[in-house]
Amino acid sequence: MIEICEVGPRDGLQNECKILSTEIKAELITKLIDAGIRNIEAVSFVNPKVVPQMADAEELLKLLPKDRNVRYGGLVLSRSGLERALKTDIDFLHVVTTTSDTFNQRNAKRTVEQAVEELSKVIKDGAVSGKGVAGVLGTAFGCPFEGEVPLARVLSVAEKFIEAGCTEITLADTTGMANPVQVQSVVSAFYEKFGKDFSLGLHFHNTRGLGLANTLAGYQAGVRRFDSSIAGLGGCPFAPKAVGNVCTEDMVNMFRGMGVETGANLSLLLETAKWMEENMDRSLDGMLLKAGIA
Ligand code: ZN
Repeated sequence: MIEICEVGPRDGLQNECKILSTEIKAELITKLIDAGIRNIEAVSFVNPKVVPQMADAEELLKLLPKDRNVRYGGLVLSRSGLERALKTDIDFLHVVTTTSDTFNQRNAKRTVEQAVEELSKVIKDGAVSGKGVAGVLGTAFGCPFEGEVPLARVLSVAEKFIEAGCTEITLADTTGMANPVQVQSVVSAFYEKFGKDFSLGLHFHNTRGLGLANTLAGYQAGVRRFDSSIAGLGGCPFAPKAVGNVCTEDMVNMFRGMGVETGANLSLLLETAKWMEENMDRSLDGMLLKAGIA
């Protein structure tokens, strides 16, 4: 059995040019729940001026089904994001930093060390307030500005986040630079340091076509939690080089073919992907959208 963390409503829609209404977002999430998804990154508590697509986090959370045994996650990148999140009934905080200084300076105007110092306090306070806290480490498989990101640095950020109170870590390939052999070695090193029982998730983008190959490599290395995005959302054609996450229904199709349980209903996922395509006014990247279920 693998666990899907559906990130379409957050990572996917954040990287689409068209801004959906709060009601459509709530309908999307409800359809995903109906299709069997139980872990959803629903919102981001980020500055609405910087990411207008995510400006309605509080309103959206109020519209979501509450009694369906679903875990809702929200992205937190700073103290102010934490303060907003704690006023909502979000279940899990997904606290994010990248692991490359140049990427972090450009995105968050601080070094990785500065980010880890601030976010460690955010993680502690989030955990004390009773929220689950997951750490998400971006550029863990490479940085578009620096190239290789030392594995030792990735593991050291993970260690500080775990010490601060994260019960899960997700390693994210923010710009699609990972390859399957690298995935296996990074995952092995992670398990060697933190133990095979620690909850590790992987987050891949299909930027260079390796999303599913990397997912499979992670699975073979022992990982059982994967982020993905319905219909492969997140590749706005007007945003240069933006390519979406691994596509949820394509990933479920792969695991289904392999005989690995996902808890998801593939037909309902594909229907949801088609519905999403109509809402986005463009053809989306998922392969099953084009080929159908075999
Ligand atoms: Zn991402």
